[in-house]
Amino acid sequence: MVDVIADQKDIDFVLYEQLNVERFLKHKKYSDFNKKMFKMVISEARNLAIKEILPTYTECDQEGLKFENGKVEVPKCLKRVHKLLMEGEWGALTADPEYGGQGLPHTIFQATFDYMIGANYVAMMYVILGHGAGKMIDRFGTESQKELFLEKLYSLQWGGTMLLTEPGAGSDLGALETSAEKLEDDTYSIVGNKIFISNGEQNLTENIIHPVLARIKGAPAGTKGISLFIVPKIWVNGDGTFGESNDVVCTGVEEKLGLHGSPTCSISLGSKGKCRGILLGKENQGMQIMFHMMNGVRLEVGTQAYSHASCAYLYALEYAKTRLQGKSMDKSSDVKVSQVPIIEHPDVRRMLLKMKSYVEGLRSLAFFTAFCFDMIECSENEDEKSHYSNLVEILTPIVKAYSSDRGFEICAEGMQVFGGYGYTREYPMEQLLRDCKIASIYEGSNGIQATDFLFRKVGGQNGIMLEAFVLEIKKRIDYSKENNIFVDLAETLEKVLKKLENKLRDSAQSVKTSEYKSAFAVASPLLDVTGDIVMAWHLLWRAQIADAKLAGNNGGENVDFYNGKIMAAKFFIKTILPVATGKLDGIVINENPAATINEKSF
Ligand SMILES: Cc1cc2nc3c(=O)[nH]c(=O)nc-3n(C[C@H](O)[C@H](O)[C@H](O)COP(=O)(O)OP(=O)(O)OC[C@H]3O[C@@H](n4cnc5c(N)ncnc54)[C@H](O)[C@@H]3O)c2cc1C
Repeated sequence: MVDVIADQKDIDFVLYEQLNVERFLKHKKYSDFNKKMFKMVISEARNLAIKEILPTYTECDQEGLKFENGKVEVPKCLKRVHKLLMEGEWGALTADPEYGGQGLPHTIFQATFDYMIGANYVAMMYVILGHGAGKMIDRFGTESQKELFLEKLYSLQWGGTMLLTEPGAGSDLGALETSAEKLEDDTYSIVGNKIFISNGEQNLTENIIHPVLARIKGAPAGTKGISLFIVPKIWVNGDGTFGESNDVVCTGVEEKLGLHGSPTCSISLGSKGKCRGILLGKENQGMQIMFHMMNGVRLEVGTQAYSHASCAYLYALEYAKTRLQGKSMDKSSDVKVSQVPIIEHPDVRRMLLKMKSYVEGLRSLAFFTAFCFDMIECSENEDEKSHYSNLVEILTPIVKAYSSDRGFEICAEGMQVFGGYGYTREYPMEQLLRDCKIASIYEGSNGIQATDFLFRKVGGQNGIMLEAFVLEIKKRIDYSKENNIFVDLAETLEKVLKKLENKLRDSAQSVKTSEYKSAFAVASPLLDVTGDIVMAWHLLWRAQIADAKLAGNNGGENVDFYNGKIMAAKFFIKTILPVATGKLDGIVINENPAATINEKSF
């Protein structure tokens, strides 16, 4: 079995042929870079991923974590990887160079993380959480908070976390009970219990910076009364030196299905009355501030899911080319004929093409979302900036929820290609499946993403985000019609898009009526079917580029590669997208049984 992680050719395609990332070089923010440098950073990420990170994937899972007396030991192999990530300064690729960041475009960051997350997501969780906490402090912190924390977080010397969840406050963070009280020195005394905290305690970094959601005594109930505090594991004095250990104790580590190298911790804050925190931003603005980090991490979770799926696809493809089983259909009655590789069987080819089209569509969506962030930063035109902001808003729940649902399914399909061997530990398929499942649960479960999608994104701001989204898809439909390529595919997409748009508008409207419960009952199917249309949009776009390359005789040795893009679009739009029409018919708002069924009737 060869070591296969992210698909290099597909990543280069999306970067240089689909999104033309060189365009960002014209912007003053990136004037110190050139295309060669972009390529060098990505190639270094790939080398590190293949040579150093990937070999830890199974080891991490099998060795697992040790928890004793409040201390967590992570798998040994992660120590070396973390050191290499520190030395290579991989902790802050898009962050401000003033604080040790690399100042690279988000789209380039996406490419590097496609490789590194694909190699071992658990190793990268330590980077993602530190980077996310740093970026939040950069955006909302005071100058002295930035001075104290940013460089250490970005350099990976210190780790980061997110302390949101409590036993009675998971999806409903407004119910949290952790409290905060202002002390004389303007710090806050924090008391509470958090659960399920990723990397809440670990022995990889010398300090851990915990962003903690808590309610200041007397603050309003619900999300409006939540504030955000920076709670260092070891107190950091004003001059940057270490003070005492803070009253933050890891009281347990979960036994769980996957991600065995990442401790999921219960954390007790202030059990001795001595946990101190520093307010980030203003009092009662904790949720808005935390959303900054959560939205970033939601995109990483989407990347986690499609990266697992991409690995599953590449492993399955390799296996299908070498596993001999059964005869060719043309010679099935001939007893002397030898067995053929399973890739020759139509059903196996169907599974592989399904996997390929989803993986490439999901990758394209994630890169496009990163690209939208770059356009917001680089565009000089205010209308264009708001167009891309609207796209980021509406695409974020889709990247998180649709990628995680499909990512898991693709991992399962990959296991199916392996037959019985896929179910065993001999191959990485079972681990990929286990590791992928959490993506639909954490960072706001997919049910919560769907509610956000329908209520805030589709129905928000008079539908302006939905308009930006539809406009972007129509661009690709119009391109097909104007250039007379894949007109049949474009027309199929156009029909489903029209139906989707009507359904989304009706549902967003119903949220404001007495039918609101029915509308929320269909939020997940609506997000799901929107994701199908997003896949069709991206695959059509990629087929259009591939067709232009082939027509211009630029295909060269890549003819099969470009044909593969066209076949993925045809397969998806002709055989999967029609199901979306049926799915839309099944989205019933009037008296939806899921909303009206009596609890006793279950
Ligand atoms: C491995 C792992 C790592 C984690 N890491 C972190 C971390 O680092 N920091 C952190 O703070 N938390 C973390 N979590 C917690 C995670 O974010 C929560 O588990 C998640 O938000 C769901 O909360 P819950 O488990 O309480 O489920 P519940 O909120 O009880 O939800 C159960 C089910 O009900 C649905 N549901 C609940 N409320 C609604 C609603 N209003 N509308 C529609 N559906 C609803 C949910 O979608 C879900 O399907 C982690 C969890 C795990 C398992």
